[in-house]
Amino acid sequence: MLNQRRGDGSLRHLITLEGLPRAELDALLDHAQRYVCALGARPPMNRALAGVTLGNLFTEPSTRTRVSFELAARRLGAEVINLEVQLSSRAKGETMLDTIHTLESLHFDGFVIRDSEPGVVAHVAAHVAPHVSVFSAGEAHLSHPTQGLLDALTVRQHKGVRFDSLSIAIVGDIKHSRVARSAYDVFTGLGVGELRLIAPPALMPANGEFPDGRRFTTPEQGLRGADVVMMLRIQKERMAQAEIPDGEQYFARYGLTAPRLRLAKPDAIVMHPQPMNRGIEIDSEVADGPQSVIRDQVRNGVAVRMAVLESVLRPRPVRA
Ligand code: ASP
Repeated sequence: MLNQRRGDGSLRHLITLEGLPRAELDALLDHAQRYVCALGARPPMNRALAGVTLGNLFTEPSTRTRVSFELAARRLGAEVINLEVQLSSRAKGETMLDTIHTLESLHFDGFVIRDSEPGVVAHVAAHVAPHVSVFSAGEAHLSHPTQGLLDALTVRQHKGVRFDSLSIAIVGDIKHSRVARSAYDVFTGLGVGELRLIAPPALMPANGEFPDGRRFTTPEQGLRGADVVMMLRIQKERMAQAEIPDGEQYFARYGLTAPRLRLAKPDAIVMHPQPMNRGIEIDSEVADGPQSVIRDQVRNGVAVRMAVLESVLRPRPVRA
């Protein structure tokens, strides 16, 4: 696994949340909280990253993540350029690195990368110049670290900073979900009391993955008494045609409806990383209902990405 730290121990890249100590997670979340701002108010801005240039390299579709990384960088005074670069094809590996090195010569200081192929983000990180940082914006089914952090921030805002008394249920296509993997890393890193995994057998991750999760195959068993219900999208793009579950049947057995939500604690919060398949994994009544914090998740995305960019990119000389 790539070492994402500098020699002095500070974070140079953010590729995974796996193994981040609790104090570091808490510090990032505290930092992000300072950037959270009520809707309608002028968002906080500063010049902490003035003179820094970031490249957005997204080879999978993205709305929230790309826009919020861009807003986060701009609100800290950085420049952001959206680039069209072919990353995934290993056959084009050299071309890809040539492009990255060209961008380095143009004074890029960091790259925000989303790619469907495992290992590409780390491959770029392993080859960039020493002063350049790489931020994962979603790697295959494996990780989505800033999503994990924004999910943790959202839970903290509603349930407090102590995770050890919480029971968090992750429901749906866990097998193909990078959101679930990063959620697992951050929630276990913060010492969550109980993490439940609720999925049909075909969408349950392999044994050995999510070792501290309690597995349930029905929401009726798994949702009882949960404090947090995190729904996931069915990742059709990572399935063969024959594996894709029938939407109506899936909704009937696993969809989050108001009666199912009543199995959780009365003050349970409902999360979803979006995009949502309404009527397949979640009913609109719940997605738009009083227990939903889905819009808070989006808002927190900018604050978390500001904290991450600032923490990683700030410790650098203004002029080399
Ligand atoms: N937007 C999230 C991701 O990039 C969740 C999803 O697409 O289902 O993984």
